[in-house]
Amino acid sequence: MSRREPPLPPASLKLHEVEGDQRRYVPHPDRWEAHIKANDGSREYCYFKNPDEDWFHLLLPGEIYLQYGETKFCLNCAIRYGHVTDDRLYWQHGVRRKHDPLI
Ligand SMILES: [Zn+2]
Repeated sequence: MSRREPPLPPASLKLHEVEGDQRRYVPHPDRWEAHIKANDGSREYCYFKNPDEDWFHLLLPGEIYLQYGETKFCLNCAIRYGHVTDDRLYWQHGVRRKHDPLI
């Protein structure tokens, strides 16, 4: 197996200020997939609603979302239900997954 070279950065690379560590982690990654919503005119929704809202979250073109089986999660809901964390040391703390319906 040959090693691939890392991709070159875009020619118009522009640096932006980053506050804090923006990386996110999936403590139990088996069967989870990360996607970027395509700009194909299709309408796709997060499976969940915010507790005080009565609508599902529309995933916008370019939005990064997670999928478990057929269930799509916007990042806010994935974080709210404990499937995603910003705790880089989650593996030391034993992050517990909140129980949520995965249909
Ligand atoms: Zn959501």
